Amino acid sequence: MIIAILVTIYSFWQLPSYSSVAPDEEFKIVVRRNEPLIAEDLAFFANNADSFQKIHVIEGISDQKFFAVKDPATIKKIVGAVSLEPKPECACAHFDEVEFFTKDTSRTFVYCDHCFDSCQTMSWQTYHMNPELYELLTAITDENGSGSSDIR
Ligand SMILES: [Zn+2]
Ligand SMILES: [Zn+2]
Repeated sequence: MIIAILVTIYSFWQLPSYSSVAPDEEFKIVVRRNEPLIAEDLAFFANNADSFQKIHVIEGISDQKFFAVKDPATIKKIVGAVSLEPKPECACAHFDEVEFFTKDTSRTFVYCDHCFDSCQTMSWQTYHMNPELYELLTAITDENGSGSSDIR
């Protein structure tokens, strides 16, 4: 029994560390690790654009501002700009958040100008930020940037 445990520990210890993996292999590890989440995200955005009911954009971390998007045309534009191209994680901090709501469910993402991260319970996956999506989200937070926009 103890030997089996020692062998297990030893074989884990022998696994290559992240730093010794070539960049494209690192990419595959990230993708493989979160395959179920990627499938869920793809399925969520495969919903008809009409089934999205509202979008919340939350700016900042301590002094948060909330923006609720309910205009169907704007919702369609934002949903249409989402692309789910996985990328390796990076170490930047994310203070802005966007939540997509359909009639039945919702999904949360945090973002910056180059990351769009799916943050679900106990699981996350990072995607490339589509510049068009970033522009649309920034336009929403800039619109009412100085005022209190807690309209949830
Ligand atoms: Zn980054
Ligand atoms: Zn980032």
